[in-house]
Amino acid sequence: MNGPYAEREFAGRTALVTGAASGIGRAVARRLAQGGAAVAVADRDEEGAAKAAAELTATGAHAIPVPADVTDPDQVRTAVETTVSVFGALHLAVNNAGVAGPTALTADVELADWRRVVDVNLHGVFHCLRAEIPALLAAGGGAIVNMSSVLGANGFMGSAAYSAAKHAVVGLTKTAAIEYAAQGIRVNAVGPGFVDTPLLADADTGVRDLLTSLHPAGRLGTPEEVAELTAFLLSDRASFLHGGHYLADGAYAAQ
Ligand code: NAD
Repeated sequence: MNGPYAEREFAGRTALVTGAASGIGRAVARRLAQGGAAVAVADRDEEGAAKAAAELTATGAHAIPVPADVTDPDQVRTAVETTVSVFGALHLAVNNAGVAGPTALTADVELADWRRVVDVNLHGVFHCLRAEIPALLAAGGGAIVNMSSVLGANGFMGSAAYSAAKHAVVGLTKTAAIEYAAQGIRVNAVGPGFVDTPLLADADTGVRDLLTSLHPAGRLGTPEEVAELTAFLLSDRASFLHGGHYLADGAYAAQ
């Protein structure tokens, strides 16, 4: 494969990316494949995962679709087992699947909405870590990125469950990083600012303009910009980076 990733720094490595049928996860899967990784494209959207994997194999990369809902620990375990049985090992994981949930002031949040957002965005990452860490240990080490958010560092009006879950992902990341650093597993979190993906599909022009204005950079981020940071954290270039929450946010949180 030609292009800026000619070094193929992920050659010989295998990666599992959740929520890889769309948006940031899809860009991460593409970026890792460009770097030479074999990629398991995991998503609850089976058709989307199949399309995203086909897009990668069409470029000459090794990729498989893996249907998995991250709220179901059995499906997550099966996804990791499938990845290991097809590719031989698991070295890299990106726990990215997430949902935004409806907007409501804290006292008005419906319990079912709270549970759904926390189940996907926090419990989903936990289920993934439980399944992935033994596989990474069996491979002799590796690296994990959990997708948090700038709302894992700041609060946001109307997003109590989302912000709470994303803050919790940072705590989970730090703890797992401490626990497994000596065994050669690096665990970090990435915190995107608002990024132009289908997650923002419900936002009308007024909301998009408002969100844009919150970023001193004067624009929303792109999935590729988040994928670049994620790939760096997974690479050997980040060999002493453990337990951090790295923002790609156009200075949103610096204000
Ligand atoms: P997206 O909606 O474009 O993609 C999310 C993907 O996750 C979809 O393919 C969806 O099918 C999948 N998914 C949802 N629930 C799932 C589940 N239970 N099991 C498996 N797959 C599931 O969203 P995105 O913007 O690419 O978001 C990706 C991650 O980035 C999320 O964790 C999100 O919270 C985070 N994030 C997004 C933004 C943003 O502004 N877009 C900002 C900060 C953080």
